[in-house]
Amino acid sequence: MEKQNVTELFGTMVFDDRVMRSRLSAEVYSSLKKTMDENAKLDESVADAVAAQMRDWAVEKGATHFTHWFQPLTGVTAEKHDSFITPSPDGGVIMEFSGKELIKGEPDASSFPSGGLRATFEARGYTAWDPTSYAFIKDHTLCIPTAFCSYAGDSLDKKTPLLRSMQALDRQAKRILKLFGKDVKYVRTSVGPEQEYFLIDKEMFEKRPDLVYTGRTLFGAMPPKGQELDDHYFGVIKPRVTEFMEDLNDELWKLGILAKTEHNEVAPAQHELAPIFSTTNIATDSNQLTMEIMQKVARRHGMVCLLHEKPFAGVNGSGKHNNWSMATDDGTNLLSPGDTPYENAQFLLFLAAVIQAVDDYQDLLRLSVATAGNDHRLGANEAPPAIISIFLGDELSGILESIKTGKPYKDKEKEVMKLGVHSLPRFSKDTTDRNRTSPFAFTGNKFEFRSLGSSNSIACCNIMLNAAVAESLKQYADRLEGAKSFEDELHNLIKEVITKHERILFNGNGYSDEWVKEATEKRGLLNLKTTADAMPYLLDKKNMDMLMEHKVFSETELHSRCEIMLENYCKTVNIEGNTMVEMVRKNYLPAIEKYLYSLAETIGKMKAVSDKVKCNYEISTMERLSELTDYILERVKDLEVALDDLKDYDDIIRTSEAIRDDVLPKMEHLRKHVDEAEMLTSEEYWPFPSYGKLLFSVY
Ligand code: ADP
Ligand code: MG
Repeated sequence: MEKQNVTELFGTMVFDDRVMRSRLSAEVYSSLKKTMDENAKLDESVADAVAAQMRDWAVEKGATHFTHWFQPLTGVTAEKHDSFITPSPDGGVIMEFSGKELIKGEPDASSFPSGGLRATFEARGYTAWDPTSYAFIKDHTLCIPTAFCSYAGDSLDKKTPLLRSMQALDRQAKRILKLFGKDVKYVRTSVGPEQEYFLIDKEMFEKRPDLVYTGRTLFGAMPPKGQELDDHYFGVIKPRVTEFMEDLNDELWKLGILAKTEHNEVAPAQHELAPIFSTTNIATDSNQLTMEIMQKVARRHGMVCLLHEKPFAGVNGSGKHNNWSMATDDGTNLLSPGDTPYENAQFLLFLAAVIQAVDDYQDLLRLSVATAGNDHRLGANEAPPAIISIFLGDELSGILESIKTGKPYKDKEKEVMKLGVHSLPRFSKDTTDRNRTSPFAFTGNKFEFRSLGSSNSIACCNIMLNAAVAESLKQYADRLEGAKSFEDELHNLIKEVITKHERILFNGNGYSDEWVKEATEKRGLLNLKTTADAMPYLLDKKNMDMLMEHKVFSETELHSRCEIMLENYCKTVNIEGNTMVEMVRKNYLPAIEKYLYSLAETIGKMKAVSDKVKCNYEISTMERLSELTDYILERVKDLEVALDDLKDYDDIIRTSEAIRDDVLPKMEHLRKHVDEAEMLTSEEYWPFPSYGKLLFSVY
C-alpha cells in the first residue's frame, strides 16, 4: 500500500475544528466553540445538531458503534460500546445518534473502583461529554471523551478534577493578569509528556508469568551486559523497532496526536516518544491513547510494550516527564521571560507562584505520582529522589538572590533590582543548563516534572500542580488587588516569597546522599519514600482545605481517592507476592531439584567409574544449590505468611504499611536466593528466559 503523506493522514480520525467548521452550521459551530473556550453552558439543540453531524462523519469513516470514553481511577481507560443501529419500520436499520446520547451515558459503574463513594445498591454513575476534547474514531467506534460521575455528583474519574483544576488556575491567573492591565479570555495550562517504554519479544514475554501477571520481572539474575556501555542510547534504532515506530506514528497521527520525537533510551530495549505539547486535558487524553496504542501496535509487530516503571531490576526504569506551562488565549507563555522589565515582573510573579506551590504542596506532588511501580524508581539513583525540589539554573537563581538580598545582580550592574522599573535586566530566554537529577526543573519557558512513572496518568500530577499554583495566585491577587502601590507591593511580595520558599530551590546533585541529609535535616523537606508513606498526606487538613477551596475535590472524593490509591498499591504488591510464590513452588524449586538430581547422578556415576575423580565442581554446586533450596523454601514460607497476614487488617492504611514493612522486604529476600540459584543452574534446566534473553531479544 502506498504510504499516505502525513499532512493528509493527520487527524483523519478526529472530529476536530476543521471538521466542525465544515460540517456544522455557523450558528451551531459558534455556540459549541463558546462552550469549548469559555465553559459556556451547552444548548440542547446544539447537542442534537452536533450529534447528527458526528454520526454522519463517523459512519462515513466506517464506524458502527459509539462509546463514552473515560478515565476511571484505575489508570486505564474504559469504554462500553453501543451500536448506532435502530430498527426502521421496513425491517431494516438506520444509524441513529442523538444529542442526549452524546451528552450523557450511563455505564454500569459498579465495576469501577469508587473507594466507598457509591453505595452498592446505587451501582449507576453517568458519563458526561467533555466538549473541550475532540471525539475520535478508534476500531470502528466513535469515542466521545467524557467525565465520569456518580449520581450524587461525585467524580469517579481523573478528568473531572483535572478540568476543575484548570478552571481554578484560569480564574486566579486572570485576576493576576488584570492587575498587569491584561484582559484575557482564558489561561490554560499546557503539557508535553515524554513517554518511556520497553519493547521485548512477545514469545519471551509469554514465557514469563511475572511479566504476564504483573508487568515486571520478579526474579532474574543480572546479564553480563546491561546498560554499562550506553551503546543502546546512541545506537541506531533496530529495524523491527523502526517498523513499530513508523506504524505507531501513523496510528497516533490519524488520531491527531502530535507524536514528534522518538529515540532509544539508556537501557537496552528502552525507547521514548515525545509529542508536541497541548492543552492539559487534551494532552492527558492523548497520553492515555498513546499508551494504549503503543501496546496494540507492539503486538502487531510480535513484541510487547512494557509500560511498567521497573520491568527489570538493576536496569534503568521508565518514567514520564511532564513538561508544564501556562499560556493565555493569544498564546503568550506566562513562564517565558519577557522583553521588557514590566513583562519580566509578571514572569517573576508567575514563577514565584510555582515556587511557592511546589514548596507548600510537596506532599501532593509526590503522592500524585505514587504507585507500587514508581516506588522502585524514585530515589534509586536513576530517577529523581522522592524528595521534591526545584532546579532553576544559575541565571534565574542569581536574579532571585539579588531580589532577595537587595544586592545588585552581577557586579557590572550597579543598580539594585527593583521590579517594575527599568533596572530589571533582560534575562536570556535560553537556559541550556540541564540538571537531570532534579525532580522539578525550569527549562527556559516551562517546568519539567520528572518524577512521574511511565504508567502514571498525567492527570494526577497536573491536578495537584494546577490547584497548588491557583492557590499561590489567589493569595497574590488578594493582596495585590488591595494594594496602594501595585509596584511596591509586587516587589515586596516577590521578595517575601523567595525568602520564605528558598528551601525548595536546589541546583545541585539530587542523587547524592548529602542532598538527602541536607534536604531532610537542614531544610525540613519531605522524603516520602513509598506510596504507603505518601498517600495519607492527601487527607492532611492543609491539603484538603486547599483542594476543596478551589473546588477541585469534595471531601468525600478525597477520602475515596486516598483509599483507592492505597488499595491499588496493596493489590498490586499482593499479586506480585502471589506470583512469586507460584513461580517458586511450581517452577523454580522443581527445576533446581531436577538439576540437583542430575548432578547427584553424575557424581555417583563418575565416582563409580574411578575413585580418583573429585567432582569438585559438581559437589560444590550441588551443596550450594541444596542450601539455596532450603533458604528458598524458608523465604517462600515467610512470604506466604506475610501475604496471609494481610487479611487480618481491615484498615487500608495499616494494610499498606504491612505491605511496605513486611511483604516487600520478604519478596526482596526470596528473590535474592532464587537469583543466586539461577547463576549456578544449567540454562537447560532453568524454567524461564534470562534477563539477557529478554533484553536483547529484539533486533
Ligand atoms: P527536551 O530537551 O527535554 O527534549 P523539548 O524542548 O524538546 O525538551 O521539549 C520536551 C517536551 O516539552 C515536548 O513534548 C514539548 O512539546 C514540550 N514543551 C515545549 N514547550 C512547552 C510548553 N510551553 N508547555 C508545555 N510543554 C512544552
Ligand atoms: Mg525531558
